[in-house]
Amino acid sequence: MKYYSTNHKAPEATLAKAVIKGLAEDRGLYMPEKLGRLAPNFFEHIDELSFQEIAHNVADAFFGEDVEPEALHKIVYDTLTFDTPLHKVEENIYALELFHGPTLAFKDVGARFMARLLQYEIRKEDRTGEVNVLVATSGDTGSAVANGFLDVEDIHVYVLYPKGKVSHIQECQFTTLGKNITAIEVEGVFDDCQQLVKSAFMDEELNRHMRLTSANSINVARFLPQAFYYFNAYAQLRRTGHTEPPVFCVPSGNFGNITAGIFGNRLGLPVKHFIAANNANDIFFNYLQTGQYSPKPSQQTLANAMDVGDPSNFARIYDLYKGSWEAIRNEISGATYTDSAIRDTMRDCYTRTGYVLDPHGACGYRALKEQLQPGEIGIFLETAHPAKFKEKVDEILSTDIPIPERLQRFMRGEKKSVPLSTSFSDFKNFLLHQ
Ligand SMILES: *Cc1c(COP(=O)(O)O)cnc(C)c1O
Repeated sequence: MKYYSTNHKAPEATLAKAVIKGLAEDRGLYMPEKLGRLAPNFFEHIDELSFQEIAHNVADAFFGEDVEPEALHKIVYDTLTFDTPLHKVEENIYALELFHGPTLAFKDVGARFMARLLQYEIRKEDRTGEVNVLVATSGDTGSAVANGFLDVEDIHVYVLYPKGKVSHIQECQFTTLGKNITAIEVEGVFDDCQQLVKSAFMDEELNRHMRLTSANSINVARFLPQAFYYFNAYAQLRRTGHTEPPVFCVPSGNFGNITAGIFGNRLGLPVKHFIAANNANDIFFNYLQTGQYSPKPSQQTLANAMDVGDPSNFARIYDLYKGSWEAIRNEISGATYTDSAIRDTMRDCYTRTGYVLDPHGACGYRALKEQLQPGEIGIFLETAHPAKFKEKVDEILSTDIPIPERLQRFMRGEKKSVPLSTSFSDFKNFLLHQ
């Protein structure tokens, strides 16, 4: 299978190149040029399959041409050591809980899959030497990537995060691991971390010295596997007796998650339509209203993992619909919520149903509730466990929600990180001496 760039100027790439490089030479995002096929009777029996079996079928359609069958089987089964259960919140509204992985957020699926696929591709090459993953984080990406890559041989991960600007729980999730994970505490803000990473990718001397790659949702190996749980949701819905195609509502920031759902739909997954739920960062919402895509600086909100002012995967959505605003509006609708609407929604859902939403899931729940038509079945993606945002959630709901044992374990670990300034020469020197 070949991968083309959304900017259409770089040469087509193999899967190996797309996974190891991440971004195409023309700064575009890689797209699979075609999709494989699912087995003809896959949907007839989907409700009899386990999550791993479902994911294995989907992974085969995406990667089966390029990855040996046994290797692909192992990558899928090693990645998915947890389920994504569907929880009925109220009549016709279900939460797809994506927070049962090691760091309690949906990014675990893509990060774990990518770590294993990247290792497979590195080992197939003749070259020796580690690959180094650089990742800038405002919280959740760092924890998912660090845990996804922990103990994966031949790969070293550097997580750059802004000092004092990530939550205590999040910081523990990537600073206490050690081994092949190095946490770097930058005396600055998230944008400084991102700038350091971008400068590193462009620095020739550094790239001669060491092999660098990124692990955010621009990487095909990280975002495509997120299609797995859309199929798993559908299988569970079928088990409850529903046969109609569901509406999927996705709390969105960089739009990697919803793009994976659209790829699932292109593979044949029945979907009525998609809703992209935003917080106050309303760039995509405005695009749907006006046809103009106008990026803006990001705004801080309660749902901070969605604070994105220029969603990178918009380029993929635009490409999938051949640039047609009408076609995009036909299949995807939008929504945008202020922090006060998020708070109201969390309280309303909790008092009426007893279900505790995190601030990101709250955007999804609200958009679905507002847009679901009579007779439709809706699924919103609950993207993180509320305990990851315990302080906010407890304050809003007047609760004292328990912290799952998996999270507590991180909090008992010893924090280790390397302090650095925002100067690129300091960062470069540090990397050159590794
Ligand atoms: C990353 C993240 C999102 C946004 O996902 P995208 O793929 O960037 O759209 C939503 N909720 C949570 C909890 C996240 O960590």
